[in-house]
Amino acid sequence: MTQPSDLALEDVSKLFGLQRAVDQVSLRIEAGNYVVLLGPSGSGKTTLLSILGGFTAPTAGRVTIGGADMTLTQPAKRPTATVFQDYALFPHMSVAENVGFGLSVRGVAKPEIAARVNAALALVDLAGFGARAISAASGGQRQRIALARALVIEPAILLLDEPLGALDLHLRRQMQDELRAIQRREGRTFVHVTHDQEEAMAIADTIVIINNGKIEDEGSPSRIYWRPRTRFSASFMGESTILSAKQTEAGMAETPLGNLPVVGLYGAHVAIRPESVLFEPAGNSTLLGTLSITEATFQGSFARLKGRIGQTEISAKVDPRRAPPVGASLPAFLAPDGAVLLTE
Ligand code: ATP
Repeated sequence: MTQPSDLALEDVSKLFGLQRAVDQVSLRIEAGNYVVLLGPSGSGKTTLLSILGGFTAPTAGRVTIGGADMTLTQPAKRPTATVFQDYALFPHMSVAENVGFGLSVRGVAKPEIAARVNAALALVDLAGFGARAISAASGGQRQRIALARALVIEPAILLLDEPLGALDLHLRRQMQDELRAIQRREGRTFVHVTHDQEEAMAIADTIVIINNGKIEDEGSPSRIYWRPRTRFSASFMGESTILSAKQTEAGMAETPLGNLPVVGLYGAHVAIRPESVLFEPAGNSTLLGTLSITEATFQGSFARLKGRIGQTEISAKVDPRRAPPVGASLPAFLAPDGAVLLTE
């Protein structure tokens, strides 16, 4: 395996006509990190990944890998492998030939190719599928074959574009664990594009939230969840109640629900996560008001509640065995550090 390398984008933009798919993005990805680019459809994630892999040349800016300028370097000359959203498998080759392709062009001996292909197929839960034709594989199987084809060459940097999108939920969770385990075991750098926030939280060391071609927020999953920087990241990653806020003194702000303790330095809005709305006072909690429940949805391990305090809509989460019925009114409290100032 090649040594892991840091990746950096410096002030990178990509225009398609007048469309700014990527807008002055600077990002540093440390070697050995699992980075997830998370954002809505059309936000520029695939274009960013394709710039990292060398399939798209940026209109402006620089790409460096391991400190070397690779802005215009061909994909094959970079220490990267890419798993494309559309798999890009060779239809006339068998499953094993597809997976082994990268090794045969690198001149690896046939017995070693066979062993490594078998190991890679086992890793994606397709042991014994090598002799099959690609045309006989289902969508989810094709996606795993594409993954095996990239993993088998053990690249220092693996770029994955929605690599689990075609899999059912069970297999998706299993493959998330597997990807995470492979990345940890080998200490490689993975850059993974998804619009699934649960997937992002489950696997990332660092999540980069992309919106309109720009970075909205960047940090560990728990930092972004509990201390989102912008309104967009507070709403896109998980749910939040967003309230207007005017700071009255350090740590306090005036909101439609009265004066609340807030965390963060400045901002004209606060975000409150559903888990931070409590129905019993806890040490240092603050009364928000009387919440009238308008919706209660059973979600298995929790119940999602919607309600109002006066005119303000609030989202909350509770143990489903203790969920109040629609129409109930009950006092609601803000958990300590539950209201976070948003800077944008
Ligand atoms: P998705 O999750 O739907 O794949 P994405 O976040 O990966 O979306 P991109 O595919 O990077 O988004 O697209 C970003 C923007 O650039 C979109 O508005 C898209 O229409 C535009 N775009 C992407 N590729 C091209 C192209 N080859 N020509 C013209 N416009 C493009």
